Amino acid sequence: MSLTNTPPTAELQALDAAHHMHPFTANGALGQKGARIITRAQGVRLTDSNGEELIDGMAGLWCVNIGYGRAELAEAAARQMRELPYYNTFFQTSHVPALTLAAKLAELAPDDLNHVFFAGSGSEANDTNIRMVRQYWALKGQAQRGTIIARRNGYHGSTMGGGSLGGMAAMHAQGGMPIPGIVHIDQPYWWGEGGDMTPEEFGLARARALEEKILEIGPETVAAFIAEPVQGAGGVIIPPDSYWPEVQRIVDKYGILLIADEVITGFGRLGQWFGSQSYGIRPHIMTIAKGLSSGYQPIGGSIVCDEVAQTIAQDEFNHGYTYSGHPVAAAVALENLRILDEESIVTRVRDEAAPYLANAWATLTDHPLVGEAVSRGLMASLALTPDKSSRAAFAAGPGRAGYVCREYCFANGLVMRHVGDRMIIAPPLVISTSDIDELIRRARNALDQTLEHLHRDGAM
Ligand code: PMP
Repeated sequence: MSLTNTPPTAELQALDAAHHMHPFTANGALGQKGARIITRAQGVRLTDSNGEELIDGMAGLWCVNIGYGRAELAEAAARQMRELPYYNTFFQTSHVPALTLAAKLAELAPDDLNHVFFAGSGSEANDTNIRMVRQYWALKGQAQRGTIIARRNGYHGSTMGGGSLGGMAAMHAQGGMPIPGIVHIDQPYWWGEGGDMTPEEFGLARARALEEKILEIGPETVAAFIAEPVQGAGGVIIPPDSYWPEVQRIVDKYGILLIADEVITGFGRLGQWFGSQSYGIRPHIMTIAKGLSSGYQPIGGSIVCDEVAQTIAQDEFNHGYTYSGHPVAAAVALENLRILDEESIVTRVRDEAAPYLANAWATLTDHPLVGEAVSRGLMASLALTPDKSSRAAFAAGPGRAGYVCREYCFANGLVMRHVGDRMIIAPPLVISTSDIDELIRRARNALDQTLEHLHRDGAM
């Protein structure tokens, strides 16, 4: 829809408020205020229905890795729709886009992660993982190994399975999650929870919480441990360097399966194809979605190692989705991967964009509100605090300062998300260095205005 024939914003907002239930939203309050309506996008920039331009610091929901407006992906979708718009992969059938994409992913993924089970989203893929790891152990004659260990403040989706693996208290408070057989350990969030420990000591301590949990519930009952290489929705929480090697040692020692949820960190976000490669993690299963198609089509999946896939293959796996390996989504994903590869986008993140962002982002630590400014690849976060030296929280409770700052970001033409009082970004991987400068300039203006606002409110 072009801007010229788009109805006025107020009309769109009224329709939205009357009929559209938004995810993760207090819909009553939004209805009063009116949703911001995004009408088009190009590169790293969005345009709303009032014609205002915004830098998309979040790549949509961490997914538009190649940036907006790549006509090649639209053409790939149109081509595939004309040829074979839909067919399933059940009942001993296959089609070219799904099998070609599976083979491509096997080539990109490290080690013996050679097999792909497709889903429509990250949540669905994690639901697959729950059933797959339990079925794996059942086929190994160890059906009692059913418990999956996950982390508080981890995010793995919003289905009953994904939301249960996730450790979001606000989600668990609604609708009967977590489902049985999933337990949580504490996260490696040094700024918020590290107390007097050094980051290295704290990383080790939080990794050893995994071993403690395994011993508490009995190693013979544990199927798998799932975690994001870097927690995204939890607030871009970058683990101390000591964390992952110790986790790897522990999963190896007890022979439990490791699931790396790469929904955000996959496809270049950390400067390698997969976050597991950045951290030297050796998962048995990787969850993928988002950047797989750069969000142009809904598609996700599980990349599975030889041992697990060959074991699962011994019996019928009674699981699948109508849209598993959807041909149009798969064709678009293949085109997206071609572009990421041929335009060396992942290498550019590693060699140019990530180091540039790291330097520019770190300059924000001089701001009175900013306790830490950290980044890894093209994921970055700020901790807002009224007192840097004590890493204090705001008296008004978590999330108020972050919300105020998020609103000033919008007003300054920047989409930056808040998680409590952490401000987070994960821009398209194609962001230029001059756009990084502009993003930081807008973020700094928003921080200045937030500081003034909090002073006015007596919040600090
Ligand atoms: N895992 C992680 C790490 C995620 O960040 C997300 C989405 N933010 C999901 C799973 C769920 O993916 P989806 O929203 O596609 O179901």
